[in-house]
Amino acid sequence: MLQKSKSEMIETIIDDNVSKGIAHNGVEIIIDRKKCNYSMYDPAGCKKCLQACTVGVFATRPLEKRDFSIPPRERIDPTQWVLLPTWADWCNGCGDCVKQCPKGAITIQLGERLITSDA
Ligand code: SF4
Ligand code: SF4
Repeated sequence: MLQKSKSEMIETIIDDNVSKGIAHNGVEIIIDRKKCNYSMYDPAGCKKCLQACTVGVFATRPLEKRDFSIPPRERIDPTQWVLLPTWADWCNGCGDCVKQCPKGAITIQLGERLITSDA
């Protein structure tokens, strides 16, 4: 599974291993999907990076795109959601999401600077 989307400001990539945002301003945020246990419906699922990031870099969306041509009542909502650094270009390099992530799933390249749980 590989999904790519590109705007003027940012390219986002989701595959089986990563959810990635590459911004025009040299910021690259990678979430290791094998480590991250985000879940929209599981109360035990983690949301720490979403809560930690005050500028709102992270967003979530269903893994499968919704078919909006089907009336909402007949639509089956997808159950698998994915966390995505949708607004990677807003990252200020504070490192809070990396520090808060209990799984060490986030890596941020901010120009020359690498922010990782190993650092
Ligand atoms: S480093 Fe700071 S600003 Fe950047 S994504 Fe993480 S919490 Fe948000
Ligand atoms: S803090 Fe880490 S484990 Fe939790 S949702 Fe974010 S990336 Fe996933």
